[in-house]
Amino acid sequence: MTRASLDPDNWDALRAQGHRMLDDMIDYLEQIRERPVWQAIPADKRVLFEQALPSQPTDLAAVHASFMADILPYAVGNAHPGFMGWVHGGGTAVGMLAEMLAGGLNANVGGRDQMPVEVERQVVRWMRELFQFPASASGVFVTGTSIANFMAVLVARVALLGSSARGQGVRVSDGELTVYTSAAAHGSIAQAVEMAGLGRASLRKIGVDGRQQIDVAALAAAIGADRAAGRRPFLLVASAGTVDVGAIDDLRALAALAQRESLWLHVDGAYGAMGMLSPHIAPRLAGIELADSIAFDFHKWGQVPYDAGFLLVRDGAQHQAAFASPAAYLARETRGLAGGSPWPCDFGPDLSRGFRALKTWMTFKVYGSERLGRSIDQSCRLAQYLGAAIEAHAALELMAPISLNIVCFRYRCGQADSINRQIVADLHESGIAAPSTTTIAGALVIRAALVNHRTSEHDIDRMLVAVVAAGARRCAPPDHQGIA
Ligand SMILES: *Cc1c(COP(=O)(O)O)cnc(C)c1O
Repeated sequence: MTRASLDPDNWDALRAQGHRMLDDMIDYLEQIRERPVWQAIPADKRVLFEQALPSQPTDLAAVHASFMADILPYAVGNAHPGFMGWVHGGGTAVGMLAEMLAGGLNANVGGRDQMPVEVERQVVRWMRELFQFPASASGVFVTGTSIANFMAVLVARVALLGSSARGQGVRVSDGELTVYTSAAAHGSIAQAVEMAGLGRASLRKIGVDGRQQIDVAALAAAIGADRAAGRRPFLLVASAGTVDVGAIDDLRALAALAQRESLWLHVDGAYGAMGMLSPHIAPRLAGIELADSIAFDFHKWGQVPYDAGFLLVRDGAQHQAAFASPAAYLARETRGLAGGSPWPCDFGPDLSRGFRALKTWMTFKVYGSERLGRSIDQSCRLAQYLGAAIEAHAALELMAPISLNIVCFRYRCGQADSINRQIVADLHESGIAAPSTTTIAGALVIRAALVNHRTSEHDIDRMLVAVVAAGARRCAPPDHQGIA
């Protein structure tokens, strides 16, 4: 009879191979500065991934060699200190090792009486402490803030309409439900409203001021107009760190308004909420402790490897009421493995769930919250350093105030949008640095989001030198453009 188990025939050989794989990844992180941030995938590499389903085995050593040659060099590069695009965390070696431990354990953290669930509960308690939420608050790991924002809409809906909304949907509401956020809010808010079945038309995107913070007076007026028209305002989504410029809404004012208007206040703190770890940033987030729910990621400013999103809800009972389902095969007991109710699966749509809590728990344990806070401070200091360098350079122009760690600027030139777009692509292809782009007041700008704990002044200097060189190359002065 052929053996059906997938365990190795030779554990010693597996062990030696495993150690080589671990060494390779430690080398990768140790020597990452010597690599390009990113490189384009050559066509002959891309086709390697179009092969048919392999029916026969291949040696692990050969598959690992393929990973090293064909996959690792062509990743997005967010572990690299020159990566400044979008909002990506850098990860840590500790997080990587925690992933290995979690992979070996292969715990399904949907529920049951097991210590991995206690590890997740420990992180929930830590987050209650960090955000000054009450002991009755609940929390749950999810893939990322996009899903956490979606779940918050569902919790707010059940909190408003009661559990009959789970059976009858929004039909039970007398009056159309409306949601409020700012024009600078992340796209996942509109998507969450859409996925919840409310329809994008029920979302009001309120204007922002010059600092990209929601206009509170316009918000109050929009709520009033909807009420006057017989609609039912129920949810306000504030931003704590907008994706374009890192703006933080006036959370205290929004909490007061939400209280007056009986709205659920949800804070999208995807990357900014971790600013609570820094004594310098935390005061800027004042009012976040008054929210009904907060969505955030450990995988951005928290430097935990992807993915590790989180939803924290002030009233754990309301959170559970939105998701818990009675199913015979999920029956809870007072003793044995089926004990320990409520389970993480009672707080979200996922039943089977990985052990994301371990890499987060281990990151906090090993580094401590103060050191993580210092890396957040450092990225804000680097943003100021970059801003000062931009203002000191005649060819460069700062395009938005620097709120936290995001710097929007451009190279001054006639065809500014297309030139700056090309400068960014030139930088990506050079492998020196990887900022991204966004649009501010109709202008395409270069956007450097400093999130990675490995980034230093040296990386900022290299990026700026490369921007100026690419700009000078792309933007010929007028007397060179054949005007004569
Ligand atoms: C990144 C981000 C999101 C989405 O989070 P994911 O973890 O990518 O799903 C939502 N809002 C803001 C402000 C973000 O920066």
